Amino acid sequence: MAGIYIHIPFCRQACNYCNFHFSTSLHYKNEFVKALLSEIELQHQNNYLNSAVIETIYFGGGTPGLLEIEELQQIINALQSHFNITPSAEITLEANPDDVSDEKLSAWKQLGINRLSIGIQSLFDEDLQWMNRVHNAAQAKTVIAKARAAGFEHFTVDLIYGIPGLTDERWQYNMDWVVEQGITHLSCYALTVEPKTPLHKLIGNLQKQDIDAAQQSRQFVQLMNTMQAAGFEHYEISNFAKPGHRSKHNSSYWHGVSYLGLGPSAHSFNGTSRQWNVANNQQYIQSLQQKKIPFEQELLTSAQQLNEYIMTSLRLMEGCNLEWVKEKFGTDKMMQLQREAERFTHLHWIKDENNHLVLTNEGKLFADRIAGDLFF
Ligand code: SF4
Repeated sequence: MAGIYIHIPFCRQACNYCNFHFSTSLHYKNEFVKALLSEIELQHQNNYLNSAVIETIYFGGGTPGLLEIEELQQIINALQSHFNITPSAEITLEANPDDVSDEKLSAWKQLGINRLSIGIQSLFDEDLQWMNRVHNAAQAKTVIAKARAAGFEHFTVDLIYGIPGLTDERWQYNMDWVVEQGITHLSCYALTVEPKTPLHKLIGNLQKQDIDAAQQSRQFVQLMNTMQAAGFEHYEISNFAKPGHRSKHNSSYWHGVSYLGLGPSAHSFNGTSRQWNVANNQQYIQSLQQKKIPFEQELLTSAQQLNEYIMTSLRLMEGCNLEWVKEKFGTDKMMQLQREAERFTHLHWIKDENNHLVLTNEGKLFADRIAGDLFF
């Protein structure tokens, strides 16, 4: 099995914290769609996924909800004619609350999209304005009911915590809303200040308040407590799902399943190599007009593969499987990893559950640091 990710590199407005690849000019949208169709054909010939059956398709970005229905139809038709897509494939589309109209929803449903990922981020206008989000709280509050009315059953919602001004009470309100709406999947991210983003500059110029690490840790603990009490599995460090509602597509990334990324800046992985397309719309379009995919590739060494596994598995509820490390990388590596992990078990940040290294709730606060310390 394998997955396909399609990056749609356009947004109506730039959120100030965002470091994804996108353009706020829709000027090249038509050319982009043509280039994407050409890439689908060329990737089919390259057979990076070795003819694997496609079980998940994910339209991300950027803002895929900005595509016209005809454009989405063309892309889906091209995927269907070039890849072996299982009839029960999970097909997710990311949308922002301001993109969602009754007409679009019913057209998306007819196209076979069966899961929506909605970037709500907060239900308070102050937070949305602070982050320069294009939608408002009223739009966010009505989006799920609209999608349900159009026949959608599967949703995931994104929320952001640790925004200066987001009090613990407001954060609780946002999480309680998700639970009350009967939403079965939630992704939550701490607001981060990435270099070269407008937010980085605004904070540097003292035009915005800096983020507070203590607030972020406190709100992450609040998140774990709330979602666990509401019956959600904390199945990945930033993701919570009711039993049976995990994201198949994202789970593939975390379990080392192959995926093909299409579109500018999209990444691909097939177990032994990683490749990524140029993160520039014009270069992407020009190269595909010459029938060339503009990408770079890296073959992963054994140490890189093991580090990748440590990084992703520690973020998962199931943890890092030492038996699997032994099978794939040898007994010495497994024992070295076990020894290195001991200092974190003494701190109660990691527990050993049936030969799996699993982060405790306290350890989840330091997940990246722990994984980095365990790297080979
Ligand atoms: S909508 Fe998403 S991709 Fe676009 S700027 Fe905002 S966070 Fe970035």
